[in-house]
Amino acid sequence: MIGTVIEQKRILATTVPGPKSAALAARKNASVSAGVGTGLPAYITAGEGGILVDVDGNQLIDFGSGIAVTSVGNRNSHVIEAVRDQIADFTHTCFMVTPYEEYVAVAEKLNDLTPGGFEKRTALFNSGAEAVENAIKIARHYTGRQAVVAFDHAYHGRTNLTMGLTAKNMPYKHRFGPFAGEIYRVPMAYPYRWPTGAKNCGEEAFEEFVSLVHAQVGEDNCAAVIIEPIQGEGGFIVPAPGFLKQVQDYCTEHGILFIADEVQTGFARTGDWFASDHERIVPDLITTAKGIAGGMPLAAVTGRAEIMDSIHGGGLGGTYGGNPVACAAALAAIDWMAQTDACARARQIEQIFIPRLTNLADEYGVIGDIRGRGAMLAIELVSDLEAKTPASDLTAALNRFCHSQGLVTLTCGTFGNVFRFLPPLSAPDELLHEGLDILEAAFAEHAR
Ligand SMILES: *Cc1c(COP(=O)(O)O)cnc(C)c1O
Repeated sequence: MIGTVIEQKRILATTVPGPKSAALAARKNASVSAGVGTGLPAYITAGEGGILVDVDGNQLIDFGSGIAVTSVGNRNSHVIEAVRDQIADFTHTCFMVTPYEEYVAVAEKLNDLTPGGFEKRTALFNSGAEAVENAIKIARHYTGRQAVVAFDHAYHGRTNLTMGLTAKNMPYKHRFGPFAGEIYRVPMAYPYRWPTGAKNCGEEAFEEFVSLVHAQVGEDNCAAVIIEPIQGEGGFIVPAPGFLKQVQDYCTEHGILFIADEVQTGFARTGDWFASDHERIVPDLITTAKGIAGGMPLAAVTGRAEIMDSIHGGGLGGTYGGNPVACAAALAAIDWMAQTDACARARQIEQIFIPRLTNLADEYGVIGDIRGRGAMLAIELVSDLEAKTPASDLTAALNRFCHSQGLVTLTCGTFGNVFRFLPPLSAPDELLHEGLDILEAAFAEHAR
């Protein structure tokens, strides 16, 4: 396939999924744990820009980017070249055994790009969950405290510690306990569902946060507060304006580390390099992964030098962490984002989506909230606009319709009623509009 170009056009050659995908799904069911689900079981053979090609010759429009991972697009020529060159040189030494420049260069890049003008250090890992675990390790070690505060609707991963931080039971936590101790949960400043209304949300959520930390944890026992600056799996919840800043200032006042989990929001996705930038939040530690390396597995913890350097030699690491091929991909992906002004592209995508989502909200009385930023957008579906009753069945029906028409869509949310949009930043406008046409058809079919 190298050298060919995938036309940025949807093609329905068979039903989606087609017969070859169905045969592969049968093999999957006989070989892969049933615990590993597939959202749209069309088996992919190639992808580029905003298109995924499946085994049956269908060309699907991608509104998911593999969950905000392929922001630079699949088969990004920058990334391909960097990965090819790196594979030809060497694929692994283990940085802890014999190091290499690519790891250092990624650390320098992240120290430079993340919010905060102070000295920073970075450590590299393989997955978002691993980055979050390490951020907590580092925060506990540095502060000598144990308690960690997380929020309602939070998602931080699927390992034991990060399951404990994650809020939602099904499917992430159900019967997988016991979970790690010393994790405390507080309400999220979720404007749409705040009991006394969006206007009061930020102030009241902050008051509750302060009161719960004081009464149930004790400020001096608290190592860290971890929060996604825009929540991902929990429903693309944008905290009430000012809430993040208040929480951060409170943390600073009490010697608590403020950790921003930017695994989903990072790398131009929200129209800034990091979602923290938008509200001028300067985290002590920041976790990144997903969009960092054009699809290669890589994750990072970046933070204040005095915190990151407080760990004894050998205290952090892992066999594959900062793999050279993944690092080469990250350097190329980040370079592409800077060169093409990917942040501006994310903001353009918001301009394309918002008017069309607003039209849908006006036409069908089932969209309670439109939210998000840049190319991280969502609609929350309700069966009753007054009562805000979550419409999870409708959400699932819309999702199935989009899939059948060759549009790869994702849902999320604690109540399963949020439809989210995470297109590659390299997808052309026409494809985005065609995807939105399909979404409109889904509403016409299921929301009348
Ligand atoms: C996806 C995600 C994680 C977990 O990342 P993995 O690479 O799946 O382990 C953690 N935090 C947030 C905010 C995420 O979106």
